Amino acid sequence: MRKKIIFWCLICCVGITASMLTAFSYSKERSASSPSQLIMLIITTLVLLIYYLKLDRNEELVPAAIKVKEQKKKGDNTSKTVTFKDVAGLEEVKEELSEVIDFIKNVEKYKKMGAKIPKGILFHGPPGTGKTLMASAIAGESNSHFIYASGSEFVEKYVGVGASRIRELFERAKKNSPAVIFIDEIDAIGSVRNADNNSEKDQTLNQLLVEMDGFNTNDNIVVVGATNRIDMLDPALLRPGRFDRHMFIGNPNVKAREEILRVHTRNKPLGKDVDIADIARKTHGVSGAHLASIANEAAILAVRKNKNLITAEEFYQAIERVLIGLQMKNSSVMEREKRVVAYHEAGHALIGRILKNNPVEKISIVPRGQAMGYVLNSSDEDRYLHTKDELQNKICTLLGGRAAEETVFGEITTGAKDDLSKANEIAQQMVCELGMSDLGNRIYKYERGGDTMPLVDREIKKIIDQCYKKTKNIIKENIDLLEKIASELFRKETLTGKELEMICNF
Ligand code: ATP
Repeated sequence: MRKKIIFWCLICCVGITASMLTAFSYSKERSASSPSQLIMLIITTLVLLIYYLKLDRNEELVPAAIKVKEQKKKGDNTSKTVTFKDVAGLEEVKEELSEVIDFIKNVEKYKKMGAKIPKGILFHGPPGTGKTLMASAIAGESNSHFIYASGSEFVEKYVGVGASRIRELFERAKKNSPAVIFIDEIDAIGSVRNADNNSEKDQTLNQLLVEMDGFNTNDNIVVVGATNRIDMLDPALLRPGRFDRHMFIGNPNVKAREEILRVHTRNKPLGKDVDIADIARKTHGVSGAHLASIANEAAILAVRKNKNLITAEEFYQAIERVLIGLQMKNSSVMEREKRVVAYHEAGHALIGRILKNNPVEKISIVPRGQAMGYVLNSSDEDRYLHTKDELQNKICTLLGGRAAEETVFGEITTGAKDDLSKANEIAQQMVCELGMSDLGNRIYKYERGGDTMPLVDREIKKIIDQCYKKTKNIIKENIDLLEKIASELFRKETLTGKELEMICNF
């Protein structure tokens, strides 16, 4: 606001000065007061200009300072309430952290033994898996101050601004010791430095390294960093004495999903038909953030329907809403397109069933989000290892939709775009990372223009072509079954896993 007022005053002054200068130079009868008035105006304009430029630069500095303060307040609130009870699952991480918490609480005990507090802990893993939650739980459990900062806040165009913010962050922590500093998205400042070592980002990272070396056990500060990309971090940041405790926080397994759902439904009135274990089975591969969102979405749906309790129906609707997207009401899909989608989805379900992929939970041709139709799968078990055959079967299931379209209608549509991208991604991993192609047990970098690119591309094509051939053969051999599933799906628009089984076993 202040900046705006100064800006407009400046514009007015410049305007008046310019018009006075013009009048002054053309006027033959110059009044006595004109030169002094003009000088005063020029001085005022210059003062305003200098003030405006200073303000502009200061405002670049101010927001982060405020942000850190605000987030500190936010952190304060959370740290009082968030404890390990609020973080479901992740038992091994909690166990590892309990030592750090004990250290913060009983620092003298460790000092006597000459032990040093671990300075930095790095959480890494996919988004929404509870890294921030776990960091605030460390502060909550150890009754220490929680100071939150995001790596992107330190990224500025002016050299030295990021570094000064880092200094301010650590000063705050020292003043409020014991404290947990949490730097989210640390890769924004901590990625590998350039050779010239001169950029603003490098200076910010250097300052972080200096600060981490600078505080000692007496300060009773722990720095927790979080990233989705540990591979991008500068080795200097990961060396002993800095972020030397790395903890992977991945997507929850079925047991952890159940626990997370219990945490997020504990203050919600649930109907008797809600089976949390079943919801956990149906949400295979999702993050804690998704589960929290499903629980919240189910509650909103129950309110919308004026219900007193949240029933299983709301939960299953919430799963589809969160994982696939909003259901399109009154969508104007043409009859012919609807038929193509029915065969496409039936193709996925049929191939998945025959190749024994995860059981089908639901097939639908009611558009949701960007999908014209979808197949939902469930899983009782969490798999960590996959065989080559299983990966190929996954590709075949993804290609099932396109193969069904081509076999039945003799032409292909744009509906397989997402399937193709997923199938190619799996094939690329098989060739480049898993040594599961004819190129043998080799690792290849997948980069456009690289020397090995034509070789790798040829192998990816080979895998996709072989899988597509196999898929089309299965479709042709089971064309009657495909017809039955597709026509029933076309008629009812949605089929459950049980209904699919009945059609297939009839
Ligand atoms: P990002 O990497 O995107 O920053 P994150 O790993 O820091 O994500 P959080 O912000 O901690 O994820 O989690 C988001 C939300 O998901 C939490 O506020 C919480 O509601 C829920 N959540 C995630 N994991 C858990 C868990 N283990 N227990 C309970 N809730 C969880």
